[in-house]
Amino acid sequence: MGSCGVCGRSSPLIARAMGVCLECLRSDPKSVEYALSTHRRERARIGLPPEPPRGEGIKCGLCDSECIIPDGKLGYCGIVMNDSGRLINLAGSPENGILEYYYDPIPTNCVAHWFCPASTGIGYPKWSVRRGAELGYYNLAVFYGACNLDCLFCQNWFFRDLTVSRKPIVNFRELIKASLSRPVTCVCFFGGDPSPQISNALLVSRELMKMGKVMRICWEMNGHLNQRTMIAVLNSSLRSGGIVKFDLKAWSPSVYLALTGRDIGSVYENAAMALKLSLERPEVPLFTASTLLVPGYVDEEEVRMIARFIASINPDTPYSLLAFHPSYLMTDLPNTSRKHAMEALKAAKDEGLRRVHIGNPWLLIREDYQLQ
Ligand code: SF4
Ligand code: SF4
Repeated sequence: MGSCGVCGRSSPLIARAMGVCLECLRSDPKSVEYALSTHRRERARIGLPPEPPRGEGIKCGLCDSECIIPDGKLGYCGIVMNDSGRLINLAGSPENGILEYYYDPIPTNCVAHWFCPASTGIGYPKWSVRRGAELGYYNLAVFYGACNLDCLFCQNWFFRDLTVSRKPIVNFRELIKASLSRPVTCVCFFGGDPSPQISNALLVSRELMKMGKVMRICWEMNGHLNQRTMIAVLNSSLRSGGIVKFDLKAWSPSVYLALTGRDIGSVYENAAMALKLSLERPEVPLFTASTLLVPGYVDEEEVRMIARFIASINPDTPYSLLAFHPSYLMTDLPNTSRKHAMEALKAAKDEGLRRVHIGNPWLLIREDYQLQ
């Protein structure tokens, strides 16, 4: 059980790593410092910059961290470096990525699986090879080993091992070859996050799209790319029948900052751009969003505001509410309760979203949170 450094309250819904409760985060934005001290300490422990570097150096504009990297130092993601006045990617070149990949049999457990062409056959024959699920086919899952956020609840926390070891390094030709070695109809770039290695991911996408067959390009990302690159990502999915998923982690800026270690940046501007573009391809949703229901922090009000934003642009956008399970530095919180999930679901629907889904329902706990 954690306690809040501001109001002094103890509760099973206050994570020790956060050190602050939701109410204080909302009423006093300065209280975020309790959570930021955890981010800084843990990042320093594994040799990553405690926060996006500012001051003297070279600016990296790949994502909205907009790091200004001093000579000999790393950017926030840990794989872009200022090497004697020149920015380098530690994978060596855009042809290489620090990543792992594997074949995921369709239907996959992607966040978009409940409506995508692979699992349902929507968009057949242009975007799918079957009228129903593409059984016998594969998604090539590309897991990038770096991220430009630092979520305390990270469910894929082990990407940090790749960041710190800077391996394995995989050439883009190996990924193209892998996509030809089995019947692959889609590729999903995730991680970590594809953003710090976006040049590699876009190179792979371009090569795959030249094949002239069903090859959907999908992305699971946090939405922090710079706007120009975001347009390239969206176009790759728009033109291939793929889907872009953003993890919209919170609505309140202080809650977002406390959970992720980064300010909310241009996430919602990028999401607005994706939502507007999604109106151009109604037959297969171009954009989907998800929110992890972190007990004590991502409550129905956070979900309500996110849903209101999405519905104001495209109310047919599929939205997944994901059940939380203890992970990384948030191991002292309970799993999401069924009541919490149902309240969030209702809030999202009340805001006008027509396609809301609870992901990982088997993780939900039946009883409500025990606050004593
Ligand atoms: S990719 Fe983003 S986090 Fe990494 S160095 Fe560039 S601006 Fe910073
Ligand atoms: S990668 Fe895209 S098309 Fe393939 S299973 Fe996942 S969401 Fe569906």
